[in-house]
Amino acid sequence: MKKIAILGSTGSIGTQALEVVRQYPERFEIVALAAGRNTELLARQVREFRPRLVSVETKEAAEKLRLELPQAIKVVWGQEGLVHVATHHEATFLIAAMVGSAGLAPTLSAIEAGKTIGLANKETLVTAGHIVMQKAKENGIAVIPIDSEHSAIFQCLQGESRTAVNRIILTASGGSFRDRSREQLRGVTVEQALSHPNWSMGAKITIDSATMMNKGLEIIEAHWLFDLPYSKIDTVLHKESIIHSMVEFADRAVMAQMGTPDMKIPIQYALTYPDRLPLQTEPLDLTAISTLHFSAPDFTRYPCVSFAYEAGEKGGTMPAVLNGANEVAVARFLRGEIAFLAIEDTIASVMAKHRVVQQPGLEEIFEADRWARQEAIQ
Ligand code: NDP
Repeated sequence: MKKIAILGSTGSIGTQALEVVRQYPERFEIVALAAGRNTELLARQVREFRPRLVSVETKEAAEKLRLELPQAIKVVWGQEGLVHVATHHEATFLIAAMVGSAGLAPTLSAIEAGKTIGLANKETLVTAGHIVMQKAKENGIAVIPIDSEHSAIFQCLQGESRTAVNRIILTASGGSFRDRSREQLRGVTVEQALSHPNWSMGAKITIDSATMMNKGLEIIEAHWLFDLPYSKIDTVLHKESIIHSMVEFADRAVMAQMGTPDMKIPIQYALTYPDRLPLQTEPLDLTAISTLHFSAPDFTRYPCVSFAYEAGEKGGTMPAVLNGANEVAVARFLRGEIAFLAIEDTIASVMAKHRVVQQPGLEEIFEADRWARQEAIQ
């Protein structure tokens, strides 16, 4: 029996992870759940999966939930609550599926407590990849990717030598505005930006897909997960999202992982790795799709990809600054405070002002993140 804790159980990844768990009650057990503000859904999840511990964002929400749930279930809150969930003594596996860099500290605590990590929260590796991967190595912990592109690469690398990798090729759908020119991006609405053609995901990652910052964050995530220089990480636009990513080897053989776009596939693989189990999902029918398209991403059209390469190459605190500025700019766009194209402008201007600290410790990363968030509001 695999005992599982989830950070972000009420989100898109969290609810799909629970769907996977629901299919295999004899293999998986939920012992701890953490959510933010959606206490109604969390309460329903608690009644179904009976964890021992739950955490919510605020003290008020925790007090209200305590009255609704059986007394045996402990309710905690805030940043400390997240750490309690991530390090629950019974859990052996943490699904890190919160959104944003708030997922970093609890995920690090789980690594220190010896939990295997199923990582969806890409911001964790973007902000502090060197610390997270070093800690995982020291503690002998596996960090198994859930992001579909990284899961694809992880699957293509099974049984292969890392030294035989020429490059990896991350595929990108191009997001909700892939058929628009830059000129046509002026005045787009939040509703239009939230309508992704292939995937149903949380609001922040859907906007990140539209700006292609999502691919930028994934480039940095891949750098840390697979220990590859940025020169060996390429991207290709592939609008059908059928090939989830590829690896080119020294002999020019290219391995690709394909499947219908369903996040339950990489979530379940992370949970069952190295085994595979049946999954209720649509089979891939290539004859029905008939044609797959590929094109090179235009970095003038999608400058966020260039920002990410630049931040990754500069290293130190710059990726945390890129991420912090992006989180604030996306939140502001979602609240209707700034225009879509102002997301890019914000990130570029905050990065331009930042003085990079190399080899930062955790405190310096948190400080850079705070600084970037403040700058991005102005
Ligand atoms: P959602 O917005 O759907 O869900 C986010 C989750 O985080 C919710 O459960 C939310 O709780 C919780 N949360 C947010 N802030 C806090 C907080 N301060 N304290 C506690 N919990 C909090 O996001 P997604 O599921 O789409 O994405 C999660 C992560 O996975 C992101 O890093 C994303 O980039 C990555 N990812 C997502 C994919 C997808 O298909 N969705 C694909 C690949 C990667 P509540 O709703 O209760 O407030």
